[in-house]
Amino acid sequence: MEEKCRAVVLKTTDYKDNDKMLTLFSYEYGVISACARGVKKASSKLKFAVQPFCFCEYVFKTSSGRRTIVSADLIESFYGIRESSEKYYAGCLALEFSMLFAPEGDDGRALFLLLGEFLETLCYSAVKVKTALAAFLLNGLRIAGYELAVSGCIRCRKPVKNRAFFNFGAGAAVCEECAGEGDIEINPSTVALLSSLEGRKLTGLTDVDFPEMIENKALRLLIHFTRLKTGVELRSASGLSLGR
Ligand SMILES: [Zn+2]
Repeated sequence: MEEKCRAVVLKTTDYKDNDKMLTLFSYEYGVISACARGVKKASSKLKFAVQPFCFCEYVFKTSSGRRTIVSADLIESFYGIRESSEKYYAGCLALEFSMLFAPEGDDGRALFLLLGEFLETLCYSAVKVKTALAAFLLNGLRIAGYELAVSGCIRCRKPVKNRAFFNFGAGAAVCEECAGEGDIEINPSTVALLSSLEGRKLTGLTDVDFPEMIENKALRLLIHFTRLKTGVELRSASGLSLGR
């Protein structure tokens, strides 16, 4: 039986002498694995289709539940992501995040589309890399069922101004008046950055311009929150110089 799908390569692993196993995030089936036979040989015509970030239409042959790639048509290589180490690690972090949260089956479409939008933003827009990554993580967490409440104080609903606190259990900002035990003080600009990203298209974030120190704080908060909810450390973060 043959099947077709459009997918982004999340991860590749060497398999036997000449093969690679791919973890693909597909629009049609969510996360799937597929074997790329003979792809480590110099003569392989599939080399282009086994690079992380690569977006292709793949045709598989399936037998006893295992998929083998028969052919691939390149839709977008997102090669520009490799032009700076900041873009590269931000892209890798988004792939890792997708591995963590993308379900099997077609429930993953919202996250798939967000990942595509993020890779396109990294590659082709003037949006700051760390700002785009923060927006990806904020939106991705919402899709995964861990929505952060950052547009005002979770308790009194008023805007968070002079001093800001964050409750990691609730994933929510808290104002100075309402803050209590378990709420951690954070930089109010971090809350301002996160709330400026809510509900926005990633490619349109060119007007968001916070200092890198604040971008780093927002990213550390999002990554820490992800770790608290899943127990998983997003390892590509170490390539991003996020401070502390
Ligand atoms: Zn309050």
